[in-house]
Amino acid sequence: TVGKLTNPSVIRELLNSLGHRPNKGLGQNYLIDGNILGIIVDAAEISENDRLLEIGPGLGALTQALLATGAPLTAIEKDPAMVAHLKRTFQGLELREDDVLNVDLEALFVDGVNRIVANLPYSVGSRFIVNALEARPLPEKMVFMVQKEVADRLTAQPGGKAYGPLAIWSQLNYDVKNIKNVSPKCFMPAPKVWSAVVRFEKRETPLADLADYSAFKRLVKTAFTQRRKQIGSNLRKNLPEFFQGLENAGIDPAIRPEQISIQQWVSLANCSV
Ligand code: SAM
Repeated sequence: TVGKLTNPSVIRELLNSLGHRPNKGLGQNYLIDGNILGIIVDAAEISENDRLLEIGPGLGALTQALLATGAPLTAIEKDPAMVAHLKRTFQGLELREDDVLNVDLEALFVDGVNRIVANLPYSVGSRFIVNALEARPLPEKMVFMVQKEVADRLTAQPGGKAYGPLAIWSQLNYDVKNIKNVSPKCFMPAPKVWSAVVRFEKRETPLADLADYSAFKRLVKTAFTQRRKQIGSNLRKNLPEFFQGLENAGIDPAIRPEQISIQQWVSLANCSV
């Protein structure tokens, strides 16, 4: 038995027996708060018929709780030391030793993975989320522990400082909520910054019908590189092919990218098609 994997002395013992020190570059901050663990698992509303994906199982605190739901679980872990430990600790886990940024997520989703649950390493957080948002079919629910700053960007509304491409990609297809801010004290070793648990629930229909994702992505990404500049002059200079569409999309050329709603971005992107 592994004992309570959120217990700091159990974690210390395990790391000692593996001859392993937490690797900062791999974001190895182990969760030591059982309540937070429960909040993450509950938020994913898992039944036995679901198929789960976990990123970065580490020593397996969350893995153990996910396996207890009875739903099949695939986990992707980059650190060979963690992989060796996980292999001998958990049965019934489909484990892959890989960098999650290199994994074909679409193949997993096509195969039936419909929930992703992860305490994401800081270094890959938003990049992984964008990769997941671009694969199809989209998972029904995703629950992530991310840096608080990333949680703010995922959940931001127009008009706020954190509103930008990440909020727009995410909220087009998902209702995204910060369900819990998490103190550095809930991890070992304690990180420098706060974290948050964020829940993605797939919308029944997207906020707007998008004709061409690559045009949308190029438009939003480029426009936000000058977020304080009026959208009219911004587009005239950087993306003239979209300038004509402003009027049709009902966007005042004097407003700034951070004031434009997701629906308006989609109408503007669709105008150029
Ligand atoms: N799940 C454990 C927990 O909640 O205590 C550990 C979470 S820890 C924040 C992040 C985990 O992701 C580590 O185990 C780390 O080795 C792994 N990891 C880091 N970068 C990764 C990558 N690019 N692909 C897959 N796993 C990665």
